[in-house]
Amino acid sequence: MDSSEECSKMATILTKVLNIVDAIIPAGHPNRPGKKLLVSGVTIHNTDNTNKGADAKAHSKFLIKTGYYMLQGKKHYVSWHFTVDDHEIYHHLPTDEIGWHAGRGNTKTLAIEICMNAGIDHSAANKRAAQLAAGLLHDFKLDITCLYSHNHWTGKVCPKLLLDHHHEGAKWIAFKALVAEAAAELASGKRAILSKEPAHIDPKHLHYTIEDETNEIDHHSLILPEEDLTK
Ligand SMILES: [Zn+2]
Repeated sequence: MDSSEECSKMATILTKVLNIVDAIIPAGHPNRPGKKLLVSGVTIHNTDNTNKGADAKAHSKFLIKTGYYMLQGKKHYVSWHFTVDDHEIYHHLPTDEIGWHAGRGNTKTLAIEICMNAGIDHSAANKRAAQLAAGLLHDFKLDITCLYSHNHWTGKVCPKLLLDHHHEGAKWIAFKALVAEAAAELASGKRAILSKEPAHIDPKHLHYTIEDETNEIDHHSLILPEEDLTK
């Protein structure tokens, strides 16, 4: 078995371990800008939705069916790459396209939302998010210094459950340690990488608009459809 076969076999294993469901927002939807992302980090969010049923699947439905929140009578489109709960992960955007989640972090980073719905096993969700983040850092040949909080980019109180007094503190350091531990396992070959070699993108070919640099999730304002929360 050559190394590419080995990689693809291992990728399948991690995808199964983390239970990643492909639910990519269709091309052309207003919350899928379709612009190339040169990945230089991973940004972590919390959904800020404590409703029963506000899990990864419900957020996937929100992104595909709605994809915006209303603020002062105006639609604000949002999107991110993965939503993680305590048993599955939904994949919303290709890893070489930007999402609209963290202001100036949009054009630099992949985004992971961690659910906080009523009844979720927070520790399991955080552990699975850490494994996913480690897999992505590994794939893009990035280290732990390339893991960011939404708070880092814009000052937003997010990821809410991983901040102390609205800032990065002991909880964030503990989460980073979880990611570093998972990344070390990947580096030592104990675990699988997540995907094939990422495509090289020449930064000269990247064009962003002001909108790409300013769009940010106001998690608290995301209204998930009622039907999705009462399965
Ligand atoms: Zn956030």
